[in-house]
Amino acid sequence: MDIIAHAVYGATVCSQKGLAGGRVSDNKRRWYEDVTVYQAALFGVIPDVVSMWPSFLVFIWEGMPGGNFFAWAGGATLIWYHATHSLVVALPACLILGLFRRSLFLPSLAWPLHVIMDAPTHGIGKFQTQPFFPLLDWGVTGINWWEHPGVFAGYWIALPLIWVFIRFWRRRAFFG
Ligand SMILES: [Zn+2]
Repeated sequence: MDIIAHAVYGATVCSQKGLAGGRVSDNKRRWYEDVTVYQAALFGVIPDVVSMWPSFLVFIWEGMPGGNFFAWAGGATLIWYHATHSLVVALPACLILGLFRRSLFLPSLAWPLHVIMDAPTHGIGKFQTQPFFPLLDWGVTGINWWEHPGVFAGYWIALPLIWVFIRFWRRRAFFG
């Protein structure tokens, strides 16, 4: 999934004002006043930022060999990529973080959510999601989102539907 969608899905699912806030949410605050919205968006992009951006800078520094970053990327970049895109790494990281800072536990779940959402949107290849890396090199055979506009459109169209659902769900709770 693209990185902006990861941020928005993280905030939509793993924040207090989002789905994770439950049916009865605090009505005094607007979504943009909820700090967990921003924290979840940040955790949602961590796997891609940590694994790709440093090597992208190296790629630019080396004069963009071949002109395609994704074709060029390999070695340590891929190890980092698989490590950050693994539930074996992400879930314990969330637990440890939650022990030190309880309020960060919920937004940190946007990281494993990133892994779960990348799995069906990446096919066989270098960037296939291996959710149990490094224990297993088994990967989910998904559909590459960057090659299929329908997949890209699908997960973007689903977002406003989730927002409408949350609103309706909470309004019913408010009146009922
Ligand atoms: Zn990713």
